[in-house]
Amino acid sequence: MHNKNILLTGTAGFIGSNFVPYFLDKYQEYNLINLDLLTYAGNLENLTECEKSSRFKFIKGDICNRELVEFIFSEYDISGVIHFAAESHVDNSIKNPGVFVQTNVNGTFTLIDVAYKYWMNKPFDYKEEYQNARFHHISTDEVYGTLGETGLFTEITPYAPNSPYSASKASSDMLIRAYNETYGMNTVITNCSNNYGPKQHDEKLIPTIIRNALKGNPIPIYGDGKNIRDWLYVLDHCKGIDLVYHIGKTGDVYNIGGRNEKTNLQIVDKICTILDKKIPKETSYKELITFVKDRAGHDRRYAIDATKLENELGWKADENFETGIVKTIEWYLEKYKSILK
Ligand code: NAD
Repeated sequence: MHNKNILLTGTAGFIGSNFVPYFLDKYQEYNLINLDLLTYAGNLENLTECEKSSRFKFIKGDICNRELVEFIFSEYDISGVIHFAAESHVDNSIKNPGVFVQTNVNGTFTLIDVAYKYWMNKPFDYKEEYQNARFHHISTDEVYGTLGETGLFTEITPYAPNSPYSASKASSDMLIRAYNETYGMNTVITNCSNNYGPKQHDEKLIPTIIRNALKGNPIPIYGDGKNIRDWLYVLDHCKGIDLVYHIGKTGDVYNIGGRNEKTNLQIVDKICTILDKKIPKETSYKELITFVKDRAGHDRRYAIDATKLENELGWKADENFETGIVKTIEWYLEKYKSILK
């Protein structure tokens, strides 16, 4: 039997580069074709461990480039897509929203439309050889907006995106939904909470805390530090994607979240406590915590109800925040070891 060729986008970034080695190793019958533009957020070094595999192929290119995407589908006879590529940083979306619309909306449209034409004859009619071809779109809990002190986001929570980033992701989710409803495409969407773990870009909260602490610089915390996020270890997200891609119900949406609600202050406090033990200094790293002007439109609280994924597909997070954060800090201590010299 031939190996199946799956197109993965955005895999030089944080989540994709954690997903690819896991997936490559688990499914020997898949060839993984990786398309990534290598923007500032993508780093090929994140994929070094995969380069030696003959089932791993990397292509530098833009998901908005229709000609290229069409070429990849036919050259590699793509029969599955897992779509991670996106502009992903809320702060950047406030400064420069245009590229978020371009990549997250137009790019997603290009991919799904090419997939539709490659896999199907007409609406609700798959070509014989692509009967099982599936398009998995990776999205975020931020599409649901913000929560008050109680309540959780479920798959039926109405969309209420607040930032240009979440609005662009919500738009892309709607396109995927429409291709399922209108053309009968085999799609699934996963909406995940905040991820943390190895390979995250320096600009994000947890790497920023660790790096500044190690440098002895002020550790910037937005506003009063009481914004709540639901933190999930990246490999648990990857395992959820794996399950949904393989056994999720066509056209369905699955929320993925760790039931680990933390304020930003709790996060910084925990990291400083661990660093105080691992690399003690004269004063605690907590002394470096500095409050800075809040992000515009900063959502107060996100929290995911992952019951559907747990009950229907048997997913369970293997890490809790206490175990995942230690692994994460260890990885960054290695990455930032030059700071410690
Ligand atoms: P990231 O910013 O670390 O990586 C994004 C990758 O996409 C980069 O490698 C970048 O080079 C690539 N890319 C950007 N524009 C591209 C384009 N036009 N064509 C091809 N490649 C392009 O993002 P991430 O944190 O790994 O997030 C991956 C996906 O998961 C995104 O869709 C994001 O919305 C979603 N998500 C992220 C989180 C999180 O906490 N990080 C949570 C939920 C959902």
